[in-house]
Amino acid sequence: MTDTRTDPIVVAGAGHVGLIAAIAIGQAFDNVISLGTIQGGNDKRTTALMMPAITFLQKIGLWEAIEPHAAPITTMRILDGTNRLIRSPAVTFEASEINESAFGYNIPNVTLTSVLSDALKQSSIRHVAASASHYHATDGAIAVEASDGSFYTANIVVAADGRSSLAREAAGISARTWSYNQTAIVLSFSHSREHHDISTEFHTEQGPFTQVPLAGKRSSLVWVTAPAHAVELLELDRNQLATRVEERMQSMLGAVTIDVDPQSWPLSGLVPTSFSRNRVFLAGESAHVFPPIGAQGLNLGVRDVETLLETLPNDGTDLGAASVISTYNRKRRPDIIARTGAVDALNRSLLSDLLPVQMVRSGSLELLRTFSPLRSFVMREGLRPGSGFRLPLKRAVH
Ligand SMILES: Cc1cc2nc3c(=O)[nH]c(=O)nc-3n(C[C@H](O)[C@H](O)[C@H](O)COP(=O)(O)OP(=O)(O)OC[C@H]3O[C@@H](n4cnc5c(N)ncnc54)[C@H](O)[C@@H]3O)c2cc1C
Repeated sequence: MTDTRTDPIVVAGAGHVGLIAAIAIGQAFDNVISLGTIQGGNDKRTTALMMPAITFLQKIGLWEAIEPHAAPITTMRILDGTNRLIRSPAVTFEASEINESAFGYNIPNVTLTSVLSDALKQSSIRHVAASASHYHATDGAIAVEASDGSFYTANIVVAADGRSSLAREAAGISARTWSYNQTAIVLSFSHSREHHDISTEFHTEQGPFTQVPLAGKRSSLVWVTAPAHAVELLELDRNQLATRVEERMQSMLGAVTIDVDPQSWPLSGLVPTSFSRNRVFLAGESAHVFPPIGAQGLNLGVRDVETLLETLPNDGTDLGAASVISTYNRKRRPDIIARTGAVDALNRSLLSDLLPVQMVRSGSLELLRTFSPLRSFVMREGLRPGSGFRLPLKRAVH
C-alpha cells in the first residue's frame, strides 16, 4: 500500500461524466490522466440538468460558458395522453413552490461536450485520446494499457467508460442488464407559441413523450415509443413528422417545425453488484443505465463525481484503500438503486394495461395534484435525494 500517492488517477472514458470527473478531480488532485476519445459532435440530444448539478458545474467553473446556451425549466407538467379507461389527472409542479427559480436547465449535448473539452484543454490534466485496452491489478496499484501502446500505473481508475465498461469488468464487478421493448426518438423543433419555460410530459401507452424548453420558441423532444413505431417515425419527412408531433401535443405550442432531425436510442437498463472494487470507482453509465424519464441519468452521474470527490482523502494517502472503496459503495448504493427502481417502475406502469396498475398510477397522481406537501416532497427528492425530508424536519424543529 502506498503511503504517499505518486501514481496517477486515471479517468477512463471521455463522455460527459468522464470529462466532468477529470476536470473536477484535476482541480483537487495532482497527476490526473483523462483516457478516452472525445466524441459527441453528432449527438442531437439535449440534457436537462437539475439545480444541484448546475450548482456543481458552477463550483468547478464550467457554468458560465454553458449558461448562454441553456434554457431554464420552471414548470413541469404531466398529462395523460392515453385512451385508457382510467385516465390520470394532470399534475403541475412549479419550482416556485419549493422556493427555487428553476428546477434546472436544458442544454444541447454538443454544447456540453464542447465546453467540457475546452475546459480539459485549458487545464493541466493530461488527455490521452486512446481507449484503455487492458487492466491488471498489481500490488497497491492498477496497470492500465491503452490502445495507442501507452501504459500507466494508476493509483485508482475512475470507470467513466459507459455501459459496457471494461474497467468494471476488469475489477470483477458483474452487472445485471435488461432491455425494454422501447426506443427513444430525440429531435428538436421550433413552435409558433411561447413555451413559457414549461416542460410537458405526456404519458402514452408506449412510454412518455416529453417536450423540454430550449432558448427562444424552440424545444427538444424525447419520444419513447415501441420500436416498430420508432422506425415508422424515422422514415417520415420533416413536415410529416412535425404534424405527428403537433398532433401528439394537441397543438399546445402551435405550429411545429422540425429543425434538428431525429435520432433513435434503444432503451435498456443496468445495475452493477458493486460501485467500487479493486481500485476501480464506477461513475456514470458504468454504474447505472435506465430509460430517459424524469431527466435523471447525467444528474446521477454528476452526483457520482461529487460523491467521489467527497470520499477521496486529499492527504497523499492511498486512494484505493479498502475504507475509501467501502465508503463510496455505501454512499452511492441507495441513490442509484432508488433512482433505477423508481424510473423502471414508472415506465412499466405506463406500459401496463392492467386495471389495478392504472388505478394505482392514477390515484398517486391525484394525490400529488391535490396534496401540496407531498408535491413539495417529490419535487425536492427529484432534485436531490434526502432533501425532501429537510423542510418538514426543519419545520418540526422550529
Ligand atoms: C434519449 C436520452 C435522453 C437523455 N436525457 C437526459 C436528460 O435530460 N438528463 C439527464 O440527466 N440524463 C439524460 N440522459 C442520460 C445521459 O445521456 C447519460 O446518463 C449520460 O450520457 C452518460 O454519460 P457517460 O459519460 O456515463 O457515458 P457515455 O456517454 O456512454 O460515455 C462513455 C465514454 O467512454 C468511452 N469508452 C468506452 N470504453 C472505453 C475504454 N475502454 N477506454 C476509454 N474510453 C472508453 C466511450 O467511447 C464513451 O465516449 C438521456 C439519455 C438518453 C438515451
